[in-house]
Amino acid sequence: MRILLVEDTPDLAEAIVERLQVDGHAPDWLSHGAQAVEMLSHQTYALVILDLGLPGLDGIQVLQQLRAQRNKTPVLVLTARSGIDDRVEALDLGADDYLIKPVNLRELSARCRALIRRNHGETSSSVQYGKLHFDRSAAKVFIAGVALDLPRRELNVLDLLLSQQGRVLSKSQIADQLCSFVDTEELPSHNAIELYIGRLRKKLADSGVHIKTLRGIGYLLHVDA
Ligand code: CA
Repeated sequence: MRILLVEDTPDLAEAIVERLQVDGHAPDWLSHGAQAVEMLSHQTYALVILDLGLPGLDGIQVLQQLRAQRNKTPVLVLTARSGIDDRVEALDLGADDYLIKPVNLRELSARCRALIRRNHGETSSSVQYGKLHFDRSAAKVFIAGVALDLPRRELNVLDLLLSQQGRVLSKSQIADQLCSFVDTEELPSHNAIELYIGRLRKKLADSGVHIKTLRGIGYLLHVDA
């Protein structure tokens, strides 16, 4: 999933970016609040990780502007241990959760999973779709109990389609969510997306999960009742 990290401490930001990449996400990192507001006005993210103490526009102001624009992207706030007032204000302004610094990266991973899942209306990180079982915390997919061999990109495409059930996703939207802006040269082509979808369809053949093509529009995931 594409995640925006807004954090002005480079060491911490690098550690978080690395962790998010290991978890299979495509993180973008910005260190200024104003840049974040600008980016969020035209780019869709599954989650925003927002430090409250930022130069210029601070985290609280970023959150305020985001919610004022009716942007409902889940926001995980990073705060200092002593910042109870900040945390209360952030939660009241529409932050979805907070994490106290120093950040524990395992906890960060778990909270990211929880927020993304909750935003998709799921209550557990282990979900059943037809005969397909998706364990997001272990990044593993099973069909009737048998583990599928899914390379990271295919897994990410499937995760995206499952999380957006009932919505048509274009090839551009899929490509966009697979890559962060730091690796734009790796932005998958439309042909690559077709290839991932083709491979996924074969692997999902007996799962009750179907990826429909809407010609010229995109893909729609359907799960047999
Ligand atoms: Ca800071």
